[in-house]
Amino acid sequence: MRAEFPDFRLGSVLATSFTATLTERHGNAVERIPVPHRLVDWLAANGLAVDSCTTAQLDLARELRESIHAAVTAAAVRDALPASAVGIINDRSAQGRAAAILTPEGKRRWRLNSSSGVEDALSVIAADAISIIAGERDGRLALCASPTCQAAFFDTSQSRTRKWCDMNTCGNRQKKARFHANQRKTH
Ligand SMILES: [Zn+2]
Repeated sequence: MRAEFPDFRLGSVLATSFTATLTERHGNAVERIPVPHRLVDWLAANGLAVDSCTTAQLDLARELRESIHAAVTAAAVRDALPASAVGIINDRSAQGRAAAILTPEGKRRWRLNSSSGVEDALSVIAADAISIIAGERDGRLALCASPTCQAAFFDTSQSRTRKWCDMNTCGNRQKKARFHANQRKTH
């Protein structure tokens, strides 16, 4: 049954991986968390496993996602941050009670409350967005060069010249489009 839902695009940055659950925002948009159990799957894939998710919690998640999208897009082009987006990011950050836990192997994992799992997970995602927008982490916010995507991503490459949100999707598609354009020129 689950195979009929679109795959996730998992990156190394939690907040922008989360905004990438809606892709091709300027083309034929693909909603990758269309139902609550797909949000549960996405959270599990990102170290934030929860027991369950209601429709209301999915709405909360999507509201946070769009707020992060608006804020990181503004930050990438050095616009003023939209106040409503900032308000929602702060609300979600403040309303979770996730605890950072150090494992014996020296890794961090998140401990969420069983009664408020989704809200706790959203607070971790909101805090991650805050840390990249606030410039606390080594990297640069940029917008994907694909015209149908334009997603904000966090470039941690050494040269800070990454052009696409994802090499395997947007990057590849652009390369193919260029290849075909060049082929047409030579014929
Ligand atoms: Zn892209």
